[in-house]
Formats: sequence, C-alpha cells, structure tokens
Amino acid sequence: MTQRQVYLDHNSTTPLHPEVAKTLTEAMTVFGNPSSMHAFGRQAKGMVNEARERVASFIGALPEEVIFVGSGSEGNNTVLSILGCAATGCSCDRVHKPHIVTTAIEHPCILETSKCLTGRGSKVTYLGVDEYGKIDLKELRDSITEQTGVVSVMMANNEIGTLQDVREAARIAHEKGALFHTDAVQAFGKIPINVHDLGVDFLTASAHKIYGPKGVGALYVRRGVQFCPLIHGGHQERGRRAGTENTLGIVGMGKSVEMRSLEMADEAARITSLRQTLKAGIEERIPDVWFNGHPTDTLQSTLNVSFAGAEGESILLYLDLEGIAVSTGSACASGSLDPSHVLMATGMPVERAHGSIRMSLGRGNTMQDVEYVLDKLPGIISRIREMSTVYGRK
Ligand SMILES: *Cc1c(COP(=O)(O)O)cnc(C)c1O
Repeated sequence: MTQRQVYLDHNSTTPLHPEVAKTLTEAMTVFGNPSSMHAFGRQAKGMVNEARERVASFIGALPEEVIFVGSGSEGNNTVLSILGCAATGCSCDRVHKPHIVTTAIEHPCILETSKCLTGRGSKVTYLGVDEYGKIDLKELRDSITEQTGVVSVMMANNEIGTLQDVREAARIAHEKGALFHTDAVQAFGKIPINVHDLGVDFLTASAHKIYGPKGVGALYVRRGVQFCPLIHGGHQERGRRAGTENTLGIVGMGKSVEMRSLEMADEAARITSLRQTLKAGIEERIPDVWFNGHPTDTLQSTLNVSFAGAEGESILLYLDLEGIAVSTGSACASGSLDPSHVLMATGMPVERAHGSIRMSLGRGNTMQDVEYVLDKLPGIISRIREMSTVYGRK
C-alpha cells in the first residue's frame, strides 16, 4: 500500500492547477518574441496581453498598471529600490524620498532589500507588531516623516496568516505624503482584492502561490506613479521591466488567476471548515499548545501552532515520515536554526517559537487529510515530549 501524502505547505508553494498545466502545454510551442512585429511575435504578444487583462481585472486595475516580473521577490525589490534613486542619486529624474517605513514581520525579500538600501544611504523604520502580529496604526502615523518615500506593509503574513488593515495604512501613508506598497503575495487569490478600494500605489503578487508556475509574478503600479525600473534595457513592459517576456510563465499566471476567480469563493468556505476541524482537533487531543497569529483577522488557509517541549524541526521530520508536509517557523534558509523573526516579533518566548509548525491548507486538501493529520500528530508530539529533557520535568 502506498503511503498517504498530505501536503500542508501551500504557503511555500502550490501544485500546478491541472487547467494551468493544460494551458501551459498548449502554449509551449508558441515561441515568438512579443516585441517582434511579425505574426509570430503578435501571437505571443496577444497571449501576454490577455494574461495582463486577466490579472488587472482580478484586482480592479487597468492592464497598463500591471507589470509582469520574475517573482514576488522581484516585485518587492523593484518597489523598494526606487528609494535607492533618491539615496544614491540615480540619473533617472524620478527622485523619491529616501526613508522607508516597513514592518518587522515582512518576507525576507522586503527585509533584506531594506537592509541593503540602508547601506546605500536610505533610512528604514521597522514597525513592531502586537502578540497577534498586527501593526499599530498610530505608530505607523508617527513614523512617517517628510522624508518618507514609501510605506510597505504586507497584506497577509506568510508564517502566521495575520491580515493587516491595509486600507487604513494606505490612507495614513497618503495623508502624510508617502506612497504605499503592499506585499500581497499570500493574500492574492485567497481573499478578494481591489486596488482602488484599498487605495494602494503598488501591490505585489506571485503565480506559484496560487497554483501557477514558479518564476513569474505581477507588480501593480498605480497609473501616474513615478517609477524607475530595477532591470534596465529594452522597452518591454512599457520600459518598466526590461528583458524578453517569460511568455509561458505569464500565460500560466493568467490562467491561474482565471481559475482563482472561478474557484476562490467556494474554496474559502471549504478551507475555513478544514482549518476549524484541524484546530479544534489539535486543541482537543494535545495538551500544552498555543495557536499563533490573530484569532479572526487571518488567512483561513494558515494555521501556526506551538507545542511545548517539542522542536518544530523534529515535528516536521516525524510528520514527513508519515507523508505529511508542513513547515517550521524557523528560518532555515541560511542553514541557521534561528527562531522565526515573525514569531519573535510577536513577543513570544524563544522556546515557544522553536516549538512551532505552520500548516497551510490549499485546494487539494480534504477532510480525510485533516483526519489523517489528527490521527498521527498526537502520537508524534508525545513521543518527542517523552524524549525531551525539559518537558514535564518541572
Ligand atoms: C512567497 C512570498 C514572497 C516571494 O515570492 P516568490 O515568487 O517566491 O519570490 C514574497 N512575499 C510573501 C509574503 C511570500 O509568501
């Protein structure tokens, strides 16, 4: 009998939607350069434009406000790097102010870019969060100065799922004369987004988090906002992102967005109930657990939980032996076992941060998956706790 496989790591990446896979297969042989004027080029250009219209209408934007980029990370780097123009005297004439306000719980592609820009003369303020992962809007207001070029606040956190009040944060930024960006990579395709309703100037999305291909994302830039590209060269993307378009990736992103617009609403209700069952089952069957993140303002697909007396990495490996894929809060990226910067920012003790795992649900998950996890997890936790030298030996 083959082992059951349960994928609960959709915040890291998602499997291709079968319809996207089909579209990609069909589009694979289209090779024209979208910048070419002949029929081959026009065919590719048509496909790119269709995808652009899909993405734009999905967020209430105009097609010309959507730039295709190489990843969510590139989109975020692009927005913050326009600040570098002000700090380093870039020869583009679109000088922005050199101060960035962001949060302590952003994705590394915001935090590391901010760090790099600090070395190049920008100034960065990191807003703290409360125990649920929410920023303080008053602190945001107080941190914006005349020198603030961009405020960047993520819409939904990838580790704990907490949603920020982006509309209000954008309003405050504008009131004080700064532009506003949101990293919406985790929220895009899970909750409805309308850029006009939110009032944002920039918004980042990524295809591989919504059952699309890896290595392609979209950046919304509000019409009229001054903009210096991160990648200079040809006139692709209206001169805002050089390089021959990743036609296939873009077509895949367009299709994945189309599928989201068809499936998102029904799926949300189903995932909410899976999460509730998972959470209640853990609470009922395992003592000494904490749920991290906000109780209500959260992505329903994300459940982050800490277990006293158990390391997240051990839990992950034992679950993996049972065919269950989760992730830990720890930033293993650099091979370091530092506790998650997100969990630490919420002010929890370091042991609790180390004892956390993230389960992120998606369209393929079923109630049987949840029952399988609830069947395996309690035994794994007690086995790890039995081996612990600290748990239960107070
Ligand atoms: C995954 C993710 C990114 C990075 O997107 P890539 O396309 O993988 O570069 C950025 N921000 C958040 C919140 C993410 O979850």
